Amino acid sequence: MTTPHAARDIDTSRPHSARMYDYYLGGKDHFEIDKKAAEAVAEVYPGIFVCARENRAFMHRATRVLAREHGIRQWLDIGTGIPTEPNLHQVAQSVVPDARVVYADNDPLVLKYAERLMRSTPQGRTTYIEADVNDPGALLDSPALSDVLDLDQPIALSLNALMHFVTDAQDPYGIVSRLLDFLPSGSALALSHCTPDFDPDTWQKVTDIYTNAGTPVQFRSQAAVARFFDGLDLLEPGVSVGYRWRPDAATATEDGAEPLTDAVVSLWTGVGIKP
Ligand code: SAH
Repeated sequence: MTTPHAARDIDTSRPHSARMYDYYLGGKDHFEIDKKAAEAVAEVYPGIFVCARENRAFMHRATRVLAREHGIRQWLDIGTGIPTEPNLHQVAQSVVPDARVVYADNDPLVLKYAERLMRSTPQGRTTYIEADVNDPGALLDSPALSDVLDLDQPIALSLNALMHFVTDAQDPYGIVSRLLDFLPSGSALALSHCTPDFDPDTWQKVTDIYTNAGTPVQFRSQAAVARFFDGLDLLEPGVSVGYRWRPDAATATEDGAEPLTDAVVSLWTGVGIKP
């Protein structure tokens, strides 16, 4: 018998990536076991807090650029994470009040807090699907998705800090192509992805911490991240370290005396448009 999602127990026997990420962002929706694993990551890579914050900042900028400059009104955000204000729909709806957003994640704790993701503007709409990106067919078949999104109009696929949880053995490029194939011309891919490029030894240690805690990860090079955009028109400035992708006033002042560096941020980001 399958247990209804809402009644399913939250697993506290091992750290979960969504809850560790909540800790990096200074949130309160994690458990002791997540805090311990997150602190182990911070011990080897103190930049993790900046990386998480810059990842969020990239999502804000990419969302605004797509809404303002590319006419995007709808988003499919997979690997949403525990709600953190402003959430994607709040950023999108601040530019286009009628923006529609479908969120998806496979972590039961995200489901638990999902009502926070559904406080939409009256003109817009949001919904949440519990789904695994490794089964794109089931995700795309979800009635909630086609209920909220107009599948004939462009949709931005937002995969932020998600694909490094899909190892090569799980066919990450096949999954992203399958998702993009489903979307009409004029749709977009906004993606961020942690990288070992600037400090391979440190990132090997981060890989080991996640993997030993039961979450396989694969951090990728710039070229491997660029491959996710194959067949798309990559927006300027191409696949760039997070804080270098269309920085705005907030990016410049965020860190005050402590300038950002590529090694501290260690996150490739990019946005592409489907021709
Ligand atoms: N996109 C958010 C959160 C990133 S944290 C942001 O960038 O701020 C990564 C999220 O991906 C977590 O919430 C985790 O639960 C989710 N995730 C990891 N593997 C997943 C999978 N196979 N399918 C769906 N979501 C997944």
